[in-house]
Amino acid sequence: MAVRKTKHEMPEQPPKERIKNFKEVPHGYSNETAIEEAKRCLQCKNKPCMDGCPVEIDIPGFINCIAQGDFEKAAEIIKAKNSLPAISGRVCPYENQCEGECTIKKIGEPVAIGRLERFIADYERGKGVKIPKKAKSTGKKVAVVGSGPAGLTCAGDLAKMGHAVTVFEALHAPAGVLMYGIPEFRLPKKIVEAEVDYIKKLGVDIKYDIVVGKTITVDELLHDYDAVFIGTGAGLPRWLNVPGENLDGVYSANEFLTRVNMMKAYKFPEYDTPIKIGKVVATFGAGNVAMDSARTALRLGAEKSYIIYRRSEKEMPARDEEIGHAKEEGIIFKLLTNPKRFIGDDKGLLTQVKCIKMKLGEPDDSGRRRPIPIPGSEEKIDIETAIVAIGQSPNPLIPKTVKGLKIGKWGNIIADDDGQTSIPGIFAGGDIATGAATVILAMGAGKRAARAIDKYVKSKK
Ligand code: FAD
Ligand code: SF4
Repeated sequence: MAVRKTKHEMPEQPPKERIKNFKEVPHGYSNETAIEEAKRCLQCKNKPCMDGCPVEIDIPGFINCIAQGDFEKAAEIIKAKNSLPAISGRVCPYENQCEGECTIKKIGEPVAIGRLERFIADYERGKGVKIPKKAKSTGKKVAVVGSGPAGLTCAGDLAKMGHAVTVFEALHAPAGVLMYGIPEFRLPKKIVEAEVDYIKKLGVDIKYDIVVGKTITVDELLHDYDAVFIGTGAGLPRWLNVPGENLDGVYSANEFLTRVNMMKAYKFPEYDTPIKIGKVVATFGAGNVAMDSARTALRLGAEKSYIIYRRSEKEMPARDEEIGHAKEEGIIFKLLTNPKRFIGDDKGLLTQVKCIKMKLGEPDDSGRRRPIPIPGSEEKIDIETAIVAIGQSPNPLIPKTVKGLKIGKWGNIIADDDGQTSIPGIFAGGDIATGAATVILAMGAGKRAARAIDKYVKSKK
Protein backbone atom coordinates (compact mmCIF):
# COMPACT_ATOMS: atom_id res chain seq x y z
CA MET A 1 0.00 0.00 0.00
CA ALA A 2 1.34 3.47 -0.91
CA VAL A 3 2.40 5.63 2.04
CA ARG A 4 0.26 8.71 2.63
CA LYS A 5 2.45 11.74 1.81
CA THR A 6 1.07 14.18 4.35
CA LYS A 7 0.81 14.14 8.14
CA HIS A 8 -2.63 13.74 9.67
CA GLU A 9 -3.76 17.18 10.79
CA MET A 10 -4.33 17.96 14.48
CA PRO A 11 -7.66 19.73 15.01
CA GLU A 12 -7.24 23.18 16.60
CA GLN A 13 -9.19 26.19 17.80
CA PRO A 14 -10.05 28.51 14.87
CA PRO A 15 -7.93 31.72 14.90
CA LYS A 16 -10.87 34.12 15.46
CA GLU A 17 -11.94 32.17 18.53
CA ARG A 18 -8.52 31.45 20.05
CA ILE A 19 -7.28 35.07 20.03
CA LYS A 20 -9.96 35.75 22.67
CA ASN A 21 -8.75 33.08 25.11
CA PHE A 22 -5.62 31.49 26.59
CA LYS A 23 -6.71 27.88 26.00
CA GLU A 24 -4.36 25.54 24.16
CA VAL A 25 -4.52 25.99 20.37
CA PRO A 26 -4.27 22.36 19.07
CA HIS A 27 -6.53 19.64 20.51
CA GLY A 28 -4.31 16.62 19.86
CA TYR A 29 -4.97 13.38 17.94
CA SER A 30 -7.84 10.97 18.59
CA ASN A 31 -6.95 7.27 19.09
CA GLU A 32 -7.96 6.49 15.50
CA THR A 33 -5.94 9.31 13.94
CA ALA A 34 -2.88 8.40 16.04
CA ILE A 35 -3.08 4.78 14.81
CA GLU A 36 -3.45 5.92 11.19
CA GLU A 37 -0.50 8.32 11.52
CA ALA A 38 1.63 5.62 13.17
CA LYS A 39 0.93 3.32 10.22
CA ARG A 40 2.80 5.79 7.98
CA CYS A 41 6.06 4.75 9.70
CA LEU A 42 8.25 2.44 7.58
CA GLN A 43 9.99 0.89 10.65
CA CYS A 44 13.38 1.66 9.05
CA LYS A 45 16.07 -0.79 10.20
CA ASN A 46 18.72 1.97 10.56
CA LYS A 47 16.32 4.24 12.57
CA PRO A 48 17.53 7.60 11.18
CA CYS A 49 14.91 9.49 13.21
CA MET A 50 16.70 8.42 16.42
CA ASP A 51 19.87 10.26 15.28
CA GLY A 52 17.83 13.45 15.64
CA CYS A 53 16.58 12.73 19.17
CA PRO A 54 18.82 14.18 21.91
CA VAL A 55 17.01 12.07 24.56
CA GLU A 56 17.45 8.83 22.59
CA ILE A 57 13.82 7.64 22.44
CA ASP A 58 13.25 4.37 20.53
CA ILE A 59 11.06 6.18 18.01
CA PRO A 60 10.16 3.31 15.65
CA GLY A 61 9.55 1.14 18.74
CA PHE A 62 6.93 3.43 20.28
CA ILE A 63 5.33 4.22 16.91
CA ASN A 64 4.96 0.50 16.18
CA CYS A 65 3.12 0.05 19.50
CA ILE A 66 0.72 2.87 18.55
CA ALA A 67 0.10 1.25 15.15
CA GLN A 68 -0.81 -1.96 17.06
CA GLY A 69 -3.08 0.00 19.43
CA ASP A 70 -0.85 -0.77 22.44
CA PHE A 71 -0.67 2.75 23.88
CA GLU A 72 0.55 1.63 27.32
CA LYS A 73 3.60 -0.09 25.90
CA ALA A 74 4.26 3.00 23.73
CA ALA A 75 4.22 5.13 26.92
CA GLU A 76 6.64 2.75 28.62
CA ILE A 77 9.09 3.00 25.72
CA ILE A 78 8.96 6.82 25.68
CA LYS A 79 9.20 7.13 29.46
CA ALA A 80 12.27 4.87 29.58
CA LYS A 81 14.18 7.80 28.03
CA ASN A 82 12.06 10.93 28.42
CA SER A 83 10.49 12.03 31.71
CA LEU A 84 8.78 15.08 30.15
CA PRO A 85 7.05 13.80 26.97
CA ALA A 86 3.87 15.91 27.17
CA ILE A 87 6.13 18.99 27.27
CA SER A 88 8.55 17.97 24.51
CA GLY A 89 5.63 16.63 22.43
CA ARG A 90 4.28 20.18 22.41
CA VAL A 91 7.28 22.48 22.12
CA CYS A 92 10.20 20.50 20.67
CA PRO A 93 11.25 21.77 17.23
CA TYR A 94 10.92 18.21 15.83
CA GLU A 95 11.13 19.55 12.27
CA ASN A 96 14.85 20.12 12.96
CA GLN A 97 15.25 17.01 15.17
CA CYS A 98 13.72 13.53 14.66
CA GLU A 99 11.30 14.56 11.91
CA GLY A 100 14.13 16.28 10.05
CA GLU A 101 15.81 12.86 9.66
CA CYS A 102 12.69 10.82 8.80
CA THR A 103 13.01 8.70 5.64
CA ILE A 104 9.51 9.63 4.45
CA LYS A 105 10.73 13.21 3.95
CA LYS A 106 12.12 11.98 0.63
CA ILE A 107 8.59 11.62 -0.73
CA GLY A 108 6.49 13.94 1.43
CA GLU A 109 5.95 15.09 5.02
CA PRO A 110 7.75 13.15 7.77
CA VAL A 111 5.86 10.94 10.22
CA ALA A 112 4.32 13.30 12.84
CA ILE A 113 6.60 11.98 15.60
CA GLY A 114 6.02 15.00 17.86
CA ARG A 115 2.23 14.74 17.62
CA LEU A 116 2.41 11.00 18.36
CA GLU A 117 4.64 11.60 21.40
CA ARG A 118 2.18 14.20 22.65
CA PHE A 119 -0.74 11.81 22.03
CA ILE A 120 0.85 9.04 24.11
CA ALA A 121 1.88 11.39 26.94
CA ASP A 122 -1.69 12.75 27.14
CA TYR A 123 -3.14 9.21 26.97
CA GLU A 124 -0.91 8.07 29.84
CA ARG A 125 -1.73 11.13 31.96
CA GLY A 126 -5.44 10.46 31.44
CA LYS A 127 -5.05 6.83 32.60
CA GLY A 128 -2.72 7.58 35.54
CA VAL A 129 1.04 7.77 35.14
CA LYS A 130 3.04 4.67 36.18
CA ILE A 131 6.10 5.17 38.38
CA PRO A 132 8.94 2.91 37.23
CA LYS A 133 11.08 0.77 39.54
CA LYS A 134 14.17 2.64 40.75
CA ALA A 135 17.65 1.21 41.25
CA LYS A 136 18.65 0.33 44.83
CA SER A 137 19.79 3.37 46.85
CA THR A 138 23.47 4.19 46.23
CA GLY A 139 23.75 6.34 49.36
CA LYS A 140 25.04 9.21 47.14
CA LYS A 141 23.58 12.72 47.18
CA VAL A 142 23.37 15.10 44.21
CA ALA A 143 22.31 18.77 44.20
CA VAL A 144 20.67 20.14 41.04
CA VAL A 145 20.52 23.92 40.67
CA GLY A 146 17.58 25.15 38.59
CA SER A 147 14.37 23.25 37.75
CA GLY A 148 14.11 23.94 34.02
CA PRO A 149 14.06 21.08 31.49
CA ALA A 150 17.82 20.48 31.93
CA GLY A 151 17.62 20.29 35.75
CA LEU A 152 14.39 18.23 35.83
CA THR A 153 15.72 15.67 33.33
CA CYS A 154 19.03 15.36 35.14
CA ALA A 155 17.25 15.03 38.51
CA GLY A 156 14.73 12.43 37.26
CA ASP A 157 17.40 10.26 35.62
CA LEU A 158 19.66 10.42 38.71
CA ALA A 159 16.75 9.45 40.98
CA LYS A 160 16.01 6.42 38.77
CA MET A 161 19.68 5.44 39.13
CA GLY A 162 19.22 5.29 42.93
CA HIS A 163 20.76 8.61 44.02
CA ALA A 164 19.17 11.05 46.49
CA VAL A 165 18.49 14.24 44.52
CA THR A 166 17.61 17.72 45.78
CA VAL A 167 16.72 20.50 43.31
CA PHE A 168 17.32 24.11 44.38
CA GLU A 169 15.09 26.58 42.52
CA ALA A 170 15.28 30.39 42.79
CA LEU A 171 11.60 30.99 42.01
CA HIS A 172 8.51 29.93 43.98
CA ALA A 173 7.46 27.52 41.21
CA PRO A 174 9.27 24.85 39.19
CA ALA A 175 10.13 24.28 35.53
CA GLY A 176 11.88 27.50 34.44
CA VAL A 177 10.88 28.81 31.02
CA LEU A 178 8.27 26.04 30.72
CA MET A 179 6.34 27.73 33.52
CA TYR A 180 7.22 31.44 33.30
CA GLY A 181 8.03 31.87 29.58
CA ILE A 182 6.01 29.68 27.23
CA PRO A 183 2.36 30.81 27.31
CA GLU A 184 -0.60 28.74 28.44
CA PHE A 185 -2.04 28.56 24.89
CA ARG A 186 1.07 26.64 23.76
CA LEU A 187 1.94 24.74 26.93
CA PRO A 188 -0.81 24.51 29.57
CA LYS A 189 0.64 24.82 33.07
CA LYS A 190 -1.42 21.84 34.33
CA ILE A 191 0.61 19.68 31.96
CA VAL A 192 3.90 21.13 33.21
CA GLU A 193 2.74 20.58 36.82
CA ALA A 194 1.81 16.94 36.05
CA GLU A 195 5.26 16.19 34.61
CA VAL A 196 7.01 17.93 37.53
CA ASP A 197 4.85 15.79 39.81
CA TYR A 198 6.17 12.68 38.06
CA ILE A 199 9.76 13.81 38.75
CA LYS A 200 8.82 14.32 42.43
CA LYS A 201 7.25 10.85 42.56
CA LEU A 202 10.58 9.46 41.38
CA GLY A 203 11.83 10.73 44.76
CA VAL A 204 13.27 14.12 43.76
CA ASP A 205 12.96 16.81 46.44
CA ILE A 206 12.47 20.36 45.06
CA LYS A 207 13.29 23.30 47.32
CA TYR A 208 11.93 26.68 46.19
CA ASP A 209 12.93 30.30 46.82
CA ILE A 210 16.62 29.42 47.08
CA VAL A 211 18.88 31.57 44.94
CA VAL A 212 22.09 29.61 44.69
CA GLY A 213 24.98 32.07 44.73
CA LYS A 214 23.10 34.25 47.29
CA THR A 215 21.10 32.06 49.73
CA ILE A 216 23.68 29.28 49.55
CA THR A 217 26.83 28.95 47.45
CA VAL A 218 27.82 26.18 45.03
CA ASP A 219 30.89 25.53 47.22
CA GLU A 220 28.60 24.94 50.21
CA LEU A 221 26.50 22.55 48.13
CA LEU A 222 29.62 20.70 47.03
CA HIS A 223 30.53 20.28 50.69
CA ASP A 224 27.16 18.65 51.50
CA TYR A 225 26.56 16.72 48.26
CA ASP A 226 28.66 14.30 46.18
CA ALA A 227 28.14 16.34 42.99
CA VAL A 228 26.35 19.47 41.76
CA PHE A 229 24.56 19.97 38.41
CA ILE A 230 24.01 23.58 37.31
CA GLY A 231 21.05 24.15 34.97
CA THR A 232 20.27 27.81 35.62
CA GLY A 233 19.32 28.71 32.04
CA ALA A 234 19.54 31.99 30.14
CA GLY A 235 17.23 34.36 31.95
CA LEU A 236 19.04 37.67 31.45
CA PRO A 237 17.20 39.75 28.82
CA ARG A 238 19.13 41.47 26.03
CA TRP A 239 18.17 45.04 25.13
CA LEU A 240 18.14 47.00 21.88
CA ASN A 241 20.24 49.79 23.44
CA VAL A 242 18.39 52.56 21.63
CA PRO A 243 17.28 55.87 23.19
CA GLY A 244 13.95 55.81 25.03
CA GLU A 245 14.14 52.15 26.06
CA ASN A 246 13.44 53.18 29.68
CA LEU A 247 10.07 54.78 28.83
CA ASP A 248 6.96 53.53 30.58
CA GLY A 249 5.45 50.89 28.26
CA VAL A 250 8.67 49.18 27.16
CA TYR A 251 9.06 45.63 28.55
CA SER A 252 11.60 42.91 28.12
CA ALA A 253 9.83 39.79 26.80
CA ASN A 254 11.01 38.02 29.93
CA GLU A 255 9.22 40.43 32.28
CA PHE A 256 6.13 40.62 30.06
CA LEU A 257 5.70 36.85 29.78
CA THR A 258 6.54 36.20 33.45
CA ARG A 259 3.88 38.66 34.55
CA VAL A 260 1.31 37.09 32.25
CA ASN A 261 2.16 33.39 32.76
CA MET A 262 3.47 33.09 36.27
CA MET A 263 1.65 35.97 37.94
CA LYS A 264 -1.47 35.15 35.87
CA ALA A 265 -2.03 38.75 34.67
CA TYR A 266 -4.44 37.36 32.07
CA LYS A 267 -6.72 36.16 34.88
CA PHE A 268 -7.22 39.64 36.41
CA PRO A 269 -9.27 40.31 38.60
CA GLU A 270 -9.19 36.66 39.81
CA TYR A 271 -5.46 37.30 40.30
CA ASP A 272 -4.65 40.78 41.59
CA THR A 273 -1.68 41.24 39.24
CA PRO A 274 -2.84 43.02 36.06
CA ILE A 275 -0.56 44.14 33.24
CA LYS A 276 -1.11 47.32 31.24
CA ILE A 277 -1.41 46.69 27.53
CA GLY A 278 -1.99 49.37 24.91
CA LYS A 279 -4.14 49.23 21.77
CA VAL A 280 -1.05 48.94 19.58
CA VAL A 281 1.80 46.67 20.63
CA ALA A 282 5.12 46.15 18.85
CA THR A 283 7.33 43.15 19.58
CA PHE A 284 10.94 43.38 18.45
CA GLY A 285 12.58 40.11 17.31
CA ALA A 286 11.31 37.06 15.39
CA GLY A 287 12.16 33.99 17.51
CA ASN A 288 9.73 31.82 19.49
CA VAL A 289 9.85 34.32 22.35
CA ALA A 290 8.78 37.13 20.03
CA MET A 291 5.90 35.06 18.54
CA ASP A 292 4.76 34.16 22.08
CA SER A 293 4.83 37.82 23.14
CA ALA A 294 3.00 39.16 20.09
CA ARG A 295 0.31 36.45 20.32
CA THR A 296 -0.06 37.02 24.08
CA ALA A 297 -0.52 40.78 23.49
CA LEU A 298 -3.39 40.02 21.09
CA ARG A 299 -5.08 37.80 23.68
CA LEU A 300 -4.74 40.56 26.30
CA GLY A 301 -6.80 42.86 24.07
CA ALA A 302 -4.34 44.66 21.76
CA GLU A 303 -6.10 45.78 18.56
CA LYS A 304 -2.88 45.63 16.53
CA SER A 305 0.14 43.48 17.35
CA TYR A 306 3.29 43.96 15.26
CA ILE A 307 6.41 41.83 14.89
CA ILE A 308 9.23 44.19 13.93
CA TYR A 309 12.33 42.39 12.64
CA ARG A 310 15.44 43.69 10.94
CA ARG A 311 15.95 40.72 8.60
CA SER A 312 13.55 38.98 6.16
CA GLU A 313 11.10 36.11 6.68
CA LYS A 314 13.72 33.55 5.59
CA GLU A 315 15.97 34.45 8.57
CA MET A 316 13.22 34.42 11.23
CA PRO A 317 14.42 31.98 13.95
CA ALA A 318 10.97 30.96 15.28
CA ARG A 319 9.54 27.52 14.52
CA ASP A 320 7.50 27.44 11.27
CA GLU A 321 4.44 26.28 13.20
CA GLU A 322 4.64 29.31 15.53
CA ILE A 323 5.07 31.73 12.61
CA GLY A 324 2.11 30.07 10.86
CA HIS A 325 -0.07 30.37 13.96
CA ALA A 326 0.94 34.02 14.43
CA LYS A 327 0.03 34.84 10.82
CA GLU A 328 -3.34 33.09 11.10
CA GLU A 329 -4.09 35.16 14.20
CA GLY A 330 -3.47 38.44 12.40
CA ILE A 331 -0.05 39.44 13.76
CA ILE A 332 1.34 42.13 11.45
CA PHE A 333 4.91 41.40 10.30
CA LYS A 334 7.02 44.46 9.59
CA LEU A 335 10.19 42.85 8.23
CA LEU A 336 13.49 44.48 7.21
CA THR A 337 12.68 47.17 9.76
CA ASN A 338 14.86 48.20 12.70
CA PRO A 339 14.01 50.47 15.67
CA LYS A 340 16.18 53.59 16.09
CA ARG A 341 14.53 55.18 19.12
CA PHE A 342 11.45 55.07 21.31
CA ILE A 343 9.53 58.32 21.69
CA GLY A 344 7.41 59.28 24.73
CA ASP A 345 5.10 62.06 25.93
CA ASP A 346 5.84 64.57 28.71
CA LYS A 347 4.73 62.01 31.33
CA GLY A 348 7.33 59.49 30.15
CA LEU A 349 4.75 57.21 28.50
CA LEU A 350 5.70 55.44 25.27
CA THR A 351 3.83 56.85 22.23
CA GLN A 352 5.90 55.97 19.15
CA VAL A 353 8.85 54.06 17.79
CA LYS A 354 11.06 55.49 15.06
CA CYS A 355 12.27 52.77 12.68
CA ILE A 356 14.47 52.57 9.61
CA LYS A 357 14.09 50.21 6.64
CA MET A 358 16.86 47.67 6.06
CA LYS A 359 18.23 45.68 3.10
CA LEU A 360 20.24 42.46 3.30
CA GLY A 361 23.97 42.41 2.57
CA GLU A 362 26.61 39.67 2.77
CA PRO A 363 26.28 36.86 5.39
CA ASP A 364 27.69 37.64 8.88
CA ASP A 365 29.29 35.28 11.47
CA SER A 366 25.91 33.62 12.09
CA GLY A 367 25.70 32.72 8.37
CA ARG A 368 22.63 34.96 7.98
CA ARG A 369 22.70 37.94 5.61
CA ARG A 370 23.67 41.13 7.43
CA PRO A 371 20.92 43.81 7.60
CA ILE A 372 22.04 47.26 6.34
CA PRO A 373 20.04 50.48 6.99
CA ILE A 374 18.63 52.30 3.96
CA PRO A 375 19.37 56.03 4.46
CA GLY A 376 16.34 58.34 4.42
CA SER A 377 13.83 55.48 4.97
CA GLU A 378 12.88 56.37 8.57
CA GLU A 379 9.23 56.12 9.67
CA LYS A 380 7.41 56.65 12.95
CA ILE A 381 4.85 54.09 14.15
CA ASP A 382 2.32 54.91 16.89
CA ILE A 383 2.56 52.30 19.66
CA GLU A 384 1.65 52.16 23.35
CA THR A 385 3.52 49.00 24.34
CA ALA A 386 6.88 47.65 23.17
CA ILE A 387 8.21 44.18 23.96
CA VAL A 388 11.91 43.55 23.37
CA ALA A 389 12.42 39.88 22.43
CA ILE A 390 15.87 39.80 20.86
CA GLY A 391 17.38 37.05 23.01
CA GLN A 392 18.60 36.19 26.49
CA SER A 393 22.02 35.66 28.01
CA PRO A 394 23.04 33.07 30.64
CA ASN A 395 22.07 33.86 34.22
CA PRO A 396 25.26 35.54 35.50
CA LEU A 397 25.07 34.86 39.27
CA ILE A 398 26.63 31.39 39.46
CA PRO A 399 29.30 31.96 36.80
CA LYS A 400 30.36 35.03 38.84
CA THR A 401 30.34 33.39 42.27
CA VAL A 402 32.18 30.09 41.75
CA LYS A 403 35.94 30.54 41.91
CA GLY A 404 37.86 28.65 39.22
CA LEU A 405 34.82 27.95 37.01
CA LYS A 406 35.79 28.54 33.37
CA ILE A 407 33.42 30.96 31.65
CA GLY A 408 32.94 31.53 27.91
CA LYS A 409 32.75 34.88 26.14
CA TRP A 410 28.93 35.01 26.36
CA GLY A 411 28.98 34.44 30.13
CA ASN A 412 28.19 30.73 29.67
CA ILE A 413 29.75 28.00 31.83
CA ILE A 414 32.24 26.00 29.78
CA ALA A 415 31.41 22.29 30.01
CA ASP A 416 32.14 19.27 27.81
CA ASP A 417 29.43 17.22 26.10
CA ASP A 418 28.81 15.29 29.33
CA GLY A 419 28.48 18.49 31.34
CA GLN A 420 31.85 18.28 33.12
CA THR A 421 33.05 21.81 33.98
CA SER A 422 36.57 22.94 34.90
CA ILE A 423 35.89 21.89 38.54
CA PRO A 424 35.61 18.16 39.46
CA GLY A 425 32.17 17.40 40.89
CA ILE A 426 30.53 20.42 39.22
CA PHE A 427 28.54 19.68 36.06
CA ALA A 428 26.50 22.09 33.91
CA GLY A 429 24.07 21.82 31.00
CA GLY A 430 21.21 23.47 29.13
CA ASP A 431 21.10 27.17 28.27
CA ILE A 432 23.66 28.14 30.96
CA ALA A 433 26.28 26.10 29.09
CA THR A 434 25.21 26.31 25.45
CA GLY A 435 23.59 29.75 25.19
CA ALA A 436 19.91 30.08 24.31
CA ALA A 437 18.87 26.80 22.67
CA THR A 438 15.82 24.55 22.89
CA VAL A 439 13.91 22.48 25.44
CA ILE A 440 14.96 19.16 23.92
CA LEU A 441 18.64 20.15 23.76
CA ALA A 442 18.45 21.18 27.42
CA MET A 443 16.86 17.80 28.26
CA GLY A 444 19.53 15.94 26.28
CA ALA A 445 22.25 17.83 28.16
CA GLY A 446 20.59 16.95 31.51
CA LYS A 447 20.46 13.28 30.48
CA ARG A 448 24.13 13.07 29.44
CA ALA A 449 25.18 14.89 32.61
CA ALA A 450 23.15 12.44 34.75
CA ARG A 451 25.13 9.54 33.25
CA ALA A 452 28.44 11.34 33.88
CA ILE A 453 27.42 12.27 37.45
CA ASP A 454 26.40 8.65 38.15
CA LYS A 455 29.85 7.50 37.07
CA TYR A 456 31.57 10.28 39.04
CA VAL A 457 29.76 9.77 42.36
CA LYS A 458 30.14 5.98 42.18
CA SER A 459 33.89 6.40 41.66
CA LYS A 460 34.14 8.58 44.81
CA LYS A 461 35.28 6.88 48.00
P1 FAD B 1 15.51 27.32 32.09
O1 FAD B 1 14.29 26.78 31.49
O2 FAD B 1 15.79 28.77 31.90
O3 FAD B 1 15.48 26.99 33.65
C1 FAD B 1 16.47 27.48 34.52
C2 FAD B 1 15.94 27.46 35.93
O4 FAD B 1 17.00 27.81 36.83
C3 FAD B 1 14.82 28.47 36.18
O5 FAD B 1 13.76 27.84 36.85
C4 FAD B 1 15.49 29.54 37.04
O6 FAD B 1 14.57 30.18 37.91
C5 FAD B 1 16.51 28.72 37.80
N1 FAD B 1 17.63 29.50 38.30
C6 FAD B 1 18.33 30.48 37.66
N2 FAD B 1 19.31 30.95 38.46
C7 FAD B 1 19.23 30.27 39.61
C8 FAD B 1 19.98 30.30 40.84
N3 FAD B 1 20.99 31.14 41.01
N4 FAD B 1 19.61 29.47 41.86
C9 FAD B 1 18.57 28.59 41.70
N5 FAD B 1 17.85 28.52 40.55
C10 FAD B 1 18.17 29.34 39.53
N6 FAD B 1 12.47 26.01 23.17
C11 FAD B 1 11.87 25.05 22.40
O7 FAD B 1 12.46 23.99 22.21
N7 FAD B 1 10.65 25.24 21.85
C12 FAD B 1 9.93 26.37 22.08
O8 FAD B 1 8.82 26.50 21.58
C13 FAD B 1 10.50 27.37 22.91
N8 FAD B 1 9.82 28.51 23.19
C14 FAD B 1 10.35 29.40 24.07
C15 FAD B 1 9.56 30.50 24.44
C16 FAD B 1 10.05 31.40 25.37
C17 FAD B 1 9.18 32.56 25.77
C18 FAD B 1 11.38 31.24 25.89
C19 FAD B 1 11.93 32.25 26.87
C20 FAD B 1 12.16 30.18 25.50
C21 FAD B 1 11.65 29.24 24.60
N9 FAD B 1 12.39 28.11 24.23
C22 FAD B 1 11.80 27.16 23.43
C23 FAD B 1 13.74 27.88 24.74
C24 FAD B 1 13.71 26.91 25.90
O9 FAD B 1 12.64 27.21 26.76
C25 FAD B 1 15.03 26.91 26.66
O10 FAD B 1 16.07 26.57 25.75
C26 FAD B 1 15.01 25.91 27.83
O11 FAD B 1 13.97 26.21 28.76
C27 FAD B 1 16.35 25.89 28.58
O12 FAD B 1 16.25 25.03 29.67
P2 FAD B 1 17.18 25.17 30.97
O13 FAD B 1 16.78 24.08 31.87
O14 FAD B 1 18.60 25.24 30.52
O15 FAD B 1 16.84 26.59 31.59
FE1 SF4 C 1 9.53 5.65 10.97
FE2 SF4 C 1 10.53 7.95 9.87
FE3 SF4 C 1 11.82 6.74 11.90
FE4 SF4 C 1 11.75 5.55 9.45
S1 SF4 C 1 12.76 7.50 9.96
S2 SF4 C 1 11.46 4.56 11.47
S3 SF4 C 1 9.71 6.17 8.77
S4 SF4 C 1 9.77 7.67 11.99
